[in-house]
Amino acid sequence: MAQPAISVNDLHYSYGDTLAVDGISFDVAEGEVIGFLGPNGAGKSTVVKMLTGQLTPQKGSASLLGMDIVKERKRVQQEIGIAFETTNLYEQMSAVENLDLFAKLYKVPNFDAMGLLEKVGLGGREKEHVASYSKGMKQRLMMARALVSDPKMLFLDEPTDGLDPVSTETIHALIRAATQNGTTVFLTTHDMVEADKLSDRVAFLNQGKIVALDTPARLKLSFGMRALKVEIELPDGGTEARELSLDLDQTAQDVFDLFKNERILTVHSEEATLEDIFFDITGRGLQG
Ligand code: ATP
Repeated sequence: MAQPAISVNDLHYSYGDTLAVDGISFDVAEGEVIGFLGPNGAGKSTVVKMLTGQLTPQKGSASLLGMDIVKERKRVQQEIGIAFETTNLYEQMSAVENLDLFAKLYKVPNFDAMGLLEKVGLGGREKEHVASYSKGMKQRLMMARALVSDPKMLFLDEPTDGLDPVSTETIHALIRAATQNGTTVFLTTHDMVEADKLSDRVAFLNQGKIVALDTPARLKLSFGMRALKVEIELPDGGTEARELSLDLDQTAQDVFDLFKNERILTVHSEEATLEDIFFDITGRGLQG
């Protein structure tokens, strides 16, 4: 296998007595989107802070794009784009000024702020002070800022938290476009629908440990119960909903009997969500 874009080996971090990250290890391939999913306090931000050089791991090691995150921190930081919810934008400056300043810091030659702002859907509003922007516009600008240096790797922390569907879709499209160019994306979220939609693989983080890591499809196959939901017509003209598990030994017979004996009005299949699977594994939900 080619060298992984992200390689993490037994990382640990405690804040005083609070063990936030408890020995996690994983690899991410170039161009892959890895979704880190877990409830509040699971340790997601602490992992991101270590990988992006804001915290130094207390044990273990990791490399990004072949560079050690501690020994080559500065070089790593030059190669990655970061959009955190807490990332500060300069509110008294315009969007163009924010991006130009960042491009200077990153020494990006021939930087085209307007082109990037058009891409994130902020064309026409580029001269206004960021202070007057809505939350969705700030999120788009933060995404643009993360893309300024055309990075090979993006770290996105809850990139669509609290956004309307249109802003969310813009950000999802930008993430997909970046991965098509080979950018590796590390996405943290509590939004299981977002994780399912965007991630090639999902890591479930609970109490500082990875408790599952696989493609959404395989997680659903391994842990989820699949079901068939059927609506049947009753002899008196009423209707009744029935649900059949697709994972039992007698499933074939049950389905056969149902279709033979009943008048079926509608049928659809239902699979477990990532939230259901997280609950099965940890006994807790993603929102808590
Ligand atoms: P959220 O979804 O709420 O952002 P998270 O999964 O990102 O949560 P972390 O912020 O990494 O989780 O927190 C992991 C643990 O470390 C929690 O118990 C949290 O209270 C603790 N923690 C985080 N930051 C600090 C800090 N600066 N000082 C002390 N404890 C902290």
